[in-house]
Amino acid sequence: MDELALLGDADQRAHRYLATVAQRRVFPDAGALAGLAAFDEPLPDEGAAPSDTLRLLDEAGSPATAVSNGPNYYGFVIGAALPAAAAAERLMLAWDQCASTFDNSPAAATIERIAGRWVVEALDLPRESAVGFGTSATACTLVAIAAARRALLARKGWDFDSDGLTGAPEVKVVISELAHITVKKALRVLGFGLKRLIVAPVDSCGRIDLARLPALDDMTILCVQAGEVNTGEFDPFAALIPRAKAAGAWVHVDGAFGLWARASAKSALTDGVEQADSWTADAHKWLNTPYDGAMTICRDAAALAAAMNADAVYSMASLDAQKNLNLEFSRRPRGLPVWAALRSLGRTGVAAMVERHCALAARIGEGLREAGYEVLNRVVLNQVLVRAQSDAQTVAIREAAQASGEVWFGATLWQGRPAFRISVSSWRTQETHVERLIALLAALRERHSG
Ligand SMILES: *Cc1c(COP(=O)(O)O)cnc(C)c1O
Repeated sequence: MDELALLGDADQRAHRYLATVAQRRVFPDAGALAGLAAFDEPLPDEGAAPSDTLRLLDEAGSPATAVSNGPNYYGFVIGAALPAAAAAERLMLAWDQCASTFDNSPAAATIERIAGRWVVEALDLPRESAVGFGTSATACTLVAIAAARRALLARKGWDFDSDGLTGAPEVKVVISELAHITVKKALRVLGFGLKRLIVAPVDSCGRIDLARLPALDDMTILCVQAGEVNTGEFDPFAALIPRAKAAGAWVHVDGAFGLWARASAKSALTDGVEQADSWTADAHKWLNTPYDGAMTICRDAAALAAAMNADAVYSMASLDAQKNLNLEFSRRPRGLPVWAALRSLGRTGVAAMVERHCALAARIGEGLREAGYEVLNRVVLNQVLVRAQSDAQTVAIREAAQASGEVWFGATLWQGRPAFRISVSSWRTQETHVERLIALLAALRERHSG
């Protein structure tokens, strides 16, 4: 089979997969999981036919996927892939660009520059901000915090690039009690030390409690969040950020999914967030681009470009070259699917998707309450946090829902007790799917009561 026939075969298999995402089990059954044993081959001495490799991938791999690219998946705020973004990604693979600089790929550099401008406009953040398109909110938070620390040290006359951290003035970090684990990971990897992080207590909704905000100064990085991962709540930016800025602190916002609320009628939830210094947002969650894609947005464009600079004698580039805004030097143009998503949705399309998901989440909250569940959050966004009568019942119902193959959502702990968390973030999820979810959970509650 020649290259084009092989790619045609891949397209057909992808077509068959996508045509059935609404009917597939959302999580594979035991048979499909056992089928994964087919991959357990010795590293071959002689190469196999490419078509046979593709066949194995599809026959054993496709049935063992979690169908997060379908309408019945409610786990982890995982979005599906929008057609325009997935199609753009497909063409991008044919181009196979190393999107480091304009010289590496004029097309990629141009499109990512526009994508960055559009992201900042869609999220209504300071227009002078630099946008680095990275792999994940985790990586982009790491990048933002690295830039923040370097900038705070520079203000004290410390040359971080030359002298590193030994003997440097201490940079403190204040994080929400409910900061996402990946923010803690980024801080840990950067050497801040988990025990040294200063925790800002939260109120009963999960927002940083202003009355108990730890002291901030001009050597502090304050990490706040737009969209807490269980409740979807937002820290009180409008009161919090001016206080932090008055103290001279750097404010970083983890907006992995929640920042997209700002592009919708829900934007009041984010009021004041534009006053921060840096922001992280995912594209692969609520913007529904394929994995992996996220962005670091930094008000001080030069600070980000200096922290991430990777100019070499053989590769000098402008400050807005993506290799100077990211960890990666060789990279795919991750801004390209973002561009395609924004171009195909437009402002109104992004707003409509976010608003629809929020309305569906509200409907789930209402339906589950009627079915006798306890809804633990205010459902301000697309997250519904749920508990049944007892902890054992909560766990049993969640496990039964997962085993049904009809839907999938994950477990969490809320205030120390088991709960489950339903996220609505797939463009494919419609009212009919949500009604089926409510009916399924109502039936499971009946079955597991008493
Ligand atoms: C998912 C998530 C992250 C991490 O994002 P990745 O893209 O998976 O690295 C960070 N913060 C919040 C609030 C999230 O929901």
